[in-house]
Amino acid sequence: MAAHTSPMPDTCDCIIVGTGPAGLAAAFTLSELAPGKSLLMLDSSSLSTGGLCNDCKMNFSFPIGFPLEYWDASTAERYLEAVCARLEPRILPKKNLGIYSRRAEKLGVQLLEIRQSHLGTDGGVQLARSFQEELQRRGISISLRETAREVRDQDRCLVTDKREIGYRNLVLAPGRRGFAFLQTVMDSLHVAYVDNVVDIGLRLEVREQLYPIVQDYYDPKFLFPQKVRTFCTNSGKAYVVKEKYRGRSGRDYFSINGHSFSEKGKASGLVNFALLKTVRFTEPLASGQEFAEMLGQQAMLMGGGQPLMQRVGDFRLGKRSKAESFTGDLYDFEPTLASCTPGDLALAMPAKILRAIWKSMKLLDTIIPGVLHPSTIMYYPEIKLYGNRPRFMDESFQARPGIWMIGDGAGTSRGITAAWASGIRAAEGIIRRGL
Ligand SMILES: Cc1cc2nc3c(=O)[nH]c(=O)nc-3n(C[C@H](O)[C@H](O)[C@H](O)COP(=O)(O)OP(=O)(O)OC[C@H]3O[C@@H](n4cnc5c(N)ncnc54)[C@H](O)[C@@H]3O)c2cc1C
Repeated sequence: MAAHTSPMPDTCDCIIVGTGPAGLAAAFTLSELAPGKSLLMLDSSSLSTGGLCNDCKMNFSFPIGFPLEYWDASTAERYLEAVCARLEPRILPKKNLGIYSRRAEKLGVQLLEIRQSHLGTDGGVQLARSFQEELQRRGISISLRETAREVRDQDRCLVTDKREIGYRNLVLAPGRRGFAFLQTVMDSLHVAYVDNVVDIGLRLEVREQLYPIVQDYYDPKFLFPQKVRTFCTNSGKAYVVKEKYRGRSGRDYFSINGHSFSEKGKASGLVNFALLKTVRFTEPLASGQEFAEMLGQQAMLMGGGQPLMQRVGDFRLGKRSKAESFTGDLYDFEPTLASCTPGDLALAMPAKILRAIWKSMKLLDTIIPGVLHPSTIMYYPEIKLYGNRPRFMDESFQARPGIWMIGDGAGTSRGITAAWASGIRAAEGIIRRGL
């Protein structure tokens, strides 16, 4: 879709920064509850850059994606009904899970049965485009490739890289890419926040026949002791990717992720999924995110500018993987992210995190025997930063009078559906306050 900037009044009734699920939901809800108001959406990219356009696996069950600080089961379920009504998911069937659940239970592991849908990267892009078009038909202005830089609360003005524009209400939903922007805004507006929780882990790539549960359950969610969980499973046309992030020190690092297409390409015969440990820091650590970024940068240093990968067979023997580990009869498939550097994860990961994850891998191998085949590849690091969580004034995520902060960037969600629910909740708050 081409960038579009329609003539706007000097002051908009509401400006929404971010066209991810949180921003879209706020826009849909406002346009429905208060038609005819001047609404402007901005995005620094040409299309939303979050999960809606990256694999688009959606979870429609509490607590997946809903931070417990802000959501209880009944509130989340109530909003999920509205989320379903807009996203119209085709819930994937799950079957034959009894055997896995029983084995898991005996080991103190939980297999969560989640209502899920999967659009794939291509399907998600189509959906995001259709939402933008629908909003434009409703008279909402959408300006793409425009970046919000600063919020001037004293004269209620949003400063972007293209203009200054007044607002009566402002919704900031800049997602994970917008962490730094949101932090600057919170600092300038004196909004208190905490940043002490991060997820750190690795991604496994394994032959699909050794992880057959995916034929019955698209993205199986196992919860292990010590706050380790499986996350974001991809199968079919699945592949591993690396995403570049800039840490607040100004240095870049890679975080691993996984995707699959619904249409394009041929099936790889491989499955990939992450094992993440949630780490909650306490005082005196100043910034959990900075800690995680430094781990990412350290892995880059070890990997000569690339993430690391190691075969499970080498890891078990306590030796680093080398280029030769990616040939040979036991190591029988090519990594889908071949640009990673073969190395030694034990040298790069903090011991406590590695021990918890390795223990979880062994538990998983008891539930689904074979997943720790010597050929299985461990990619590191996979880092999920949580938003700096502002201290909100009310339950609609208002952080300052007339300013709402929502979605993954503000820590009110950790997934597409909860981000969408956050957008509805903020819009309802705006309406209550008077748009
Ligand atoms: C690669 C990837 C894959 C993911 N896969 C999944 C998945 O399959 N399922 C799932 O549930 N969740 C997934 N997630 C998480 C999911 O993206 C988020 O939970 C969800 O998108 C959060 O929605 P949001 O609206 O808060 O932010 P986002 O969707 O990230 O949208 C924020 C938007 O704000 C824009 N922006 C940022 N800063 C500015 C600025 N200063 N000015 C203007 N615009 C700005 C960004 O370009 C972006 O388009 C994934 C995340 C990533 C990064």
